[in-house]
Amino acid sequence: MCTACNTFLDRLIDRGLLIETGVDGLYGRSGAFESVIDGFDAAISRIGGGDGAEVIRFPPGMNRALFEKSGYLKSFPNLAGTIHAFGGDDAAHAGLVERLAKGEDWTQHQALTDVVLAPAACYPLYPVVAKRGPLPPQGRLFDLNSYCFRHEPSKDPARLQMFRMREYVRVGTPEQVTEFRQTWLDRGQALVGSLGLPFHLDVANDPFFGRAGRLLANNQRDQRLKFELLVPIDSEEKPTACLSFNYHQDHFGALWGIRTSGEETAHTACVGFGMERVALALFKHHGLETARWPDDVRRALWG
Ligand code: AMP
Ligand code: ZN
Repeated sequence: MCTACNTFLDRLIDRGLLIETGVDGLYGRSGAFESVIDGFDAAISRIGGGDGAEVIRFPPGMNRALFEKSGYLKSFPNLAGTIHAFGGDDAAHAGLVERLAKGEDWTQHQALTDVVLAPAACYPLYPVVAKRGPLPPQGRLFDLNSYCFRHEPSKDPARLQMFRMREYVRVGTPEQVTEFRQTWLDRGQALVGSLGLPFHLDVANDPFFGRAGRLLANNQRDQRLKFELLVPIDSEEKPTACLSFNYHQDHFGALWGIRTSGEETAHTACVGFGMERVALALFKHHGLETARWPDDVRRALWG
């Protein structure tokens, strides 16, 4: 037993479920941890798999030009992760190596690449959908899963800088899209209930940056555009959003020029599953040893 383990994070690391890298919010995962992620992933598919979603797996990096157009930097400049690479000549390289050796800033010849880190699994999707032309009458449904990056270093194990997000994304008429969100609000609660986790649903807002962001956040709340399914993980007082249900109205449809079969601007919605957060909630509530978890929880995950 770990005597210096004061926090849940300490216990996870002590058990080897998470592996430290020296950076807050950046961990390796053990086989046991991954088997929980896999079980949850399969449980999601058992519920949503019959809907005929098109499966797409994007890499965790996305096209920078499309990211710039997406508006993410207007709303969340502080969370974005950009990828840079060395763009200098031999002399610049010699300078880099020298500064590195002296522990000085070596980044002056680092230039932006064409790739940024995806902040959410659905960001690369919308331009792809727009490119295909008008939607079929039934709209479209996608199944995504990607590692995502958000620059929010924290000692809270449920606030990671790199984490996986599974998503279903619906693109269609307002009716199709709002029906999708309601369906997943119901399914999400049933799913998390089947895992023996305490939870509640609440209206939420994204952490829009700055003073102007407060207005956007208030508007999002007032219009009930975002719901979160919250489970206590790090604390009872501040439960953690494990699933999100987002209705973007025609925001992405207008931005990317996605049209319905009736030539209207398409609406979009997505349900996002925080894979690590759900795994962490399970470890928190059922203990660090999966073999001792209740039978019905084990069945819900692993059949
Ligand atoms: P969001 O786009 O913020 O609604 O995120 C979708 C889902 O991803 C959330 O419901 C969380 O479960 C998960 N998530 C968001 N941020 C983090 C983070 N920093 N660490 C781990 N999971 C996260
Ligand atoms: Zn999304």
